[in-house]
Amino acid sequence: MGDYWSDAENMIQPGKIKVPYTWQAGETASHYLTRLRDEKKILGKHCPKCDKVLVPARKNCPYCTVPTDEWVELAGQGTVETFTVVRKGNAIQPMKPPFVYAIIQLDGAGTGFIHMLGEVDPESVEEGMRVEAVFAEERTASPLDIAYFKPIG
Ligand SMILES: [Zn+2]
Repeated sequence: MGDYWSDAENMIQPGKIKVPYTWQAGETASHYLTRLRDEKKILGKHCPKCDKVLVPARKNCPYCTVPTDEWVELAGQGTVETFTVVRKGNAIQPMKPPFVYAIIQLDGAGTGFIHMLGEVDPESVEEGMRVEAVFAEERTASPLDIAYFKPIG
């Protein structure tokens, strides 16, 4: 009698594992997200060492590693520093292509803020364009509580 495995072809079958999980946002991100949801306010935190206002708010400065101190309320307007046009969609994109991801220098912030642009022809977007936040109707304390930024002026 042969061994059970010796004459068996070694088969490999593809599979998928779905792993739902939750994580605790922490004190700083929770405060940032609840103000976004409840008051449509974009808050940053100030670094006492490099004097930058970090947006989204961070507990520690990623440049200096020191704890941030003051909360700073931003006006929700800024300037497009750079951008890319997404032309091919996939299931995880929050908007239907073509759409624009931009790094926005929010007024009063010391860091670029990555978000999408809306109410704009992607082909007409330019660096230096002034934009303002448009908030989602239904907000859930998520980064997508800002639906997108739209051009102003
Ligand atoms: Zn710093």
